Amino acid sequence: MPFESLGDKLQSAFKDLRGKGKLSESDIDGALREVRRALLEADVNFKVAKDFIAHVREKAMGEEVFGSLKPDQTVIKIVRDELTELLGGTQSKITLSSTGMTVIMLVGLQGAGKTTTAGKLALMFKKKGHRPLLAACDVYRPAAIKQLEVLGQQTDVPVYRMPPNVDPVHIASYAVDTARSYNRDIVILDTAGRLTIDEKLMAELRNIKAEVHPQEILLVLDSMTGQDAVTTAKAFDENLGIDGTILTKMDGDARGGAALSIKTVTGKPIKMIGVSEKLDGGLEDFHPDRMAGRILD
Ligand code: GDP
Repeated sequence: MPFESLGDKLQSAFKDLRGKGKLSESDIDGALREVRRALLEADVNFKVAKDFIAHVREKAMGEEVFGSLKPDQTVIKIVRDELTELLGGTQSKITLSSTGMTVIMLVGLQGAGKTTTAGKLALMFKKKGHRPLLAACDVYRPAAIKQLEVLGQQTDVPVYRMPPNVDPVHIASYAVDTARSYNRDIVILDTAGRLTIDEKLMAELRNIKAEVHPQEILLVLDSMTGQDAVTTAKAFDENLGIDGTILTKMDGDARGGAALSIKTVTGKPIKMIGVSEKLDGGLEDFHPDRMAGRILD
């Protein structure tokens, strides 16, 4: 369950405020110290946590709290609003081209869940009445091509592949041409991942981007890697430019530090979240406000 431990700790931070008719400045500071500790224990980026507390304090010290009848509820509401902001503010969806073809390029490190997410996205779009095509651009791991083909069979979505000695830039380009000829409206490119970021990988991804001009470059990140995911996001954005992220394995991430830091650190929104290994139902839209509400419920 995502954010489980953060939710518990925030509840306990607010416990002392509960039932108090009037809050003093030191009541609020005491609670905020605990909130800060809870955020850091959730592996939230240090500066993000610091700014968060500063914002909440500023709002809480305003008339709003001291003048309100239920000051504890007012503080919790301020924290909820700030959490929503941290998570991205408003929902940010995957943008589809209004005229014809949408190319979605999935990028990310090996093991983040890129190929699985490609299958989940294909199924999601198919269910919405689209005609997706999956393209296997990871030629370095033959198992990755096979894995995508299996996902294609399971979702009944065609997979475009070429022999492993073909340049991934050509594969991407031919895949888009093929999609056009067969009246497919969404191409999902499953690109190569490495264990770590290297210049060769980035150069290849930049070349694919320049060749096919994707509407969406989405970075797939393993939420359980916490601040490493945030560092990865920064590097991909600086080297390639991304439109957003998909955070996978949220089902196993009790802390939530990546989700709470990524938007602030990179400026790029979380567009979807992976919540199970299952192809059907394992990928969800990301709603910052609902997630903030769930953390504090
Ligand atoms: P890739 O190397 O980035 O293509 O990663 P894969 O798609 O092969 O995924 C790596 C592992 O993560 C696989 O065992 C997937 O089943 C698993 N996985 C991917 N997304 C999720 C998710 O949202 N939740 C869970 N629990 N597992 C996931």
